[in-house]
Amino acid sequence: MATHHTDYRSNLISNGGLMKTLSEKEWIALGESLFGKDMNNWKFKCPVCGNVATPEDFRKFKDQGADPNSATCECIGRYLPKEQRGGFCSDHANTKIKQPCDYAGYGLFRLSPVEVVREDGRIHCFAFAGDE
Ligand SMILES: [Zn+2]
Repeated sequence: MATHHTDYRSNLISNGGLMKTLSEKEWIALGESLFGKDMNNWKFKCPVCGNVATPEDFRKFKDQGADPNSATCECIGRYLPKEQRGGFCSDHANTKIKQPCDYAGYGLFRLSPVEVVREDGRIHCFAFAGDE
């Protein structure tokens, strides 16, 4: 479907195509200033559908392979049944709903707008909700 490509592109444009690079220290300071010390309550926004989720929200999907870090790079729709997640392909999503979707930041389309520089490398991460 044509909307598939248009949607990805319009999200890229709404990000300004810009990636924000932060050191891990800066990233943690920013997260704490927005949401407090407990990372489980930090809110991350999916760059594709705009759904907001916290690491805490992923806890219940542990059996399916989710962990708290999932919130930084996966849309929670990945852990929901097909009927409850939006997407572009009717084979594995319900095309009638918009969010959450099944996006993952480590896939083919790298849309995660925040790059965190850590000692062991760089990770691409969803933006904090409210910091766009
Ligand atoms: Zn999403």
